[in-house]
Amino acid sequence: MEFAINDVVLVHDDKQQQQLLLKLRCSVKNYDWGRPGRDSGVATLFALNSGSQFDPDEPYAELWMGTHESGPSFVVSGGGQNEVVLTLKSWLVNNPNVLGEKVLEKWGCDLPFLFKVLSVAKALSIQAHPDKELARTLHKLQPDVYKDANHKPEMALAVTEFEALCGFIALKELKAVLHTVPEVLELVSIEDANLVLQLHDQDGEEIVKPILQAVFTQLMSAGKERVTVAVDRLISRLHKESQVRQLTDKEQLVVRLEKQYPGDIGVIAAFFLNYVKLNPGEALYLGANEPHAYIYGECIECMATSDNVVRAGLTPKYRDVDTLCSMLTYKQGSPEILRGVPLNPYVTKYLPPFDEFEIDRCVLPQGESVSFPAVPGPSIFLVAVGEGMMNPGSPKGLVVTAGDVLFAAANTEISITSASELNLYRTGVNTKFFKASQV
Ligand SMILES: [Zn+2]
Repeated sequence: MEFAINDVVLVHDDKQQQQLLLKLRCSVKNYDWGRPGRDSGVATLFALNSGSQFDPDEPYAELWMGTHESGPSFVVSGGGQNEVVLTLKSWLVNNPNVLGEKVLEKWGCDLPFLFKVLSVAKALSIQAHPDKELARTLHKLQPDVYKDANHKPEMALAVTEFEALCGFIALKELKAVLHTVPEVLELVSIEDANLVLQLHDQDGEEIVKPILQAVFTQLMSAGKERVTVAVDRLISRLHKESQVRQLTDKEQLVVRLEKQYPGDIGVIAAFFLNYVKLNPGEALYLGANEPHAYIYGECIECMATSDNVVRAGLTPKYRDVDTLCSMLTYKQGSPEILRGVPLNPYVTKYLPPFDEFEIDRCVLPQGESVSFPAVPGPSIFLVAVGEGMMNPGSPKGLVVTAGDVLFAAANTEISITSASELNLYRTGVNTKFFKASQV
C-alpha cells in the first residue's frame, strides 16, 4: 500500500529525476538548562512545528531535526483519525534513493547529520565528544551511558549573541591564571604548576601536553570538600575585589557559573578554557576530544548523528572525569570562528572540516527570491522566521511558515520567494565531501 504523505511536493524534472520535499514533525528536549517557554526560540518553533501549545514556565532546550532515535523526526500521512505517523528513519529505509548514491555508499541508509536549535539559559556541562575509535570502545564498555558507536563533531551557529567555553587557553594566559588565581593552586600540585610556569612558547606538543594534562586532571579529580572550600574562597575573594576594581570578563563569568552550579569544579575549570562570545551569524566548530561548554544564547547546531557526551563539570548528570581527562587533545589557543562564505546576497555557507555536514544561513527580504541548487545528498530546511513559497519545479508550490522543517531529497533544487522577511537554515552533507568523492 502506498504511504501518501501530507505536504509532499513530488515532481519529475526534464531529466525525469525525482524531486521531493516533505514536511517533518520534530522532537523537543526539555533539559533543565533550556530557556523557559515564554522566551525560548525552541519553544516557539516547536509549538509552530507541532501545532501544540508550550508551557511558559517549562524549560525548552533543544529542537531535534533528523533521525536519531533519542529524538526522531516524523513524516505524517492522512489527517484526523486516519493520521499515520512514521519516523523519518523508517521512511528513509523504504526510500533509500532519496539519500543519493554517495551518501548511501558512505553512511548507509540514514542521515549522517543531526540538526538542532538550542535555547540556552544556563551553562551546559563541560564536555567533549569522543573520536570514532573511542566512541566504539566506550559504547562497548558502557552501552547505557554511551549509546552511540559514532563520533560527534559539531558546529554552533549563533542566532543571538552566544557564549561558550571552548578549548584550552594559550600558554601565556595559563601562566597568568596560575599567578592570579590562587584557588587553582589549592587543587593542583605545586610541582606540576611550576612545570607549567617553566614551559616556553616554542615547546612542542610532546612536552606541553603531559604537563597540562597532569594539572587539569588533578584539578578535575579534586575531592568534593576541597573543591567546595576553594570555590567559596574564590567567590568571596572576587566579591571583595569587585568593590575596588572591575572584574575581568572571565571572572564575571565565573561568578555567574557559581550561581548556577554552586561548589562545582567547573567554576574553577572555566579559568583553563577560552571564553568565546559569538555574534549572530558567527559559528564555532568542535572536533573530537575538544573540551567545551555552551553558556548562554540561541543557536543553530549541527553534528554527526550521535549523542555521545563525556561530561566532567557544571552538571548534575553522570561525570566521567577519568575518560574526559585522558581523551582531550590539550591543544591550546583561541578557536577558529567561522563567518561563512557568501553564495549570493542572501545565503551564507558555513563549512566545518567534517564530511557529515555544512550549514547555509539565508536571510531573504520581503518579496525576494533565491534558489538552492540541487546537491547530490539530502538536506533539511528550517524556516526560523517569516513566510514564503517553496517551489521545487512544481506547479503548486508549497507555502512555508516559521516552524516548518522540510526534508529535501538528493538532487532536488529548491527555490523560495518570501512573503515577509524570511530567515531560513539549511543543513546537508558537506560540499567538500562531494568534491573529494569526484576525484
Ligand atoms: Zn558538545
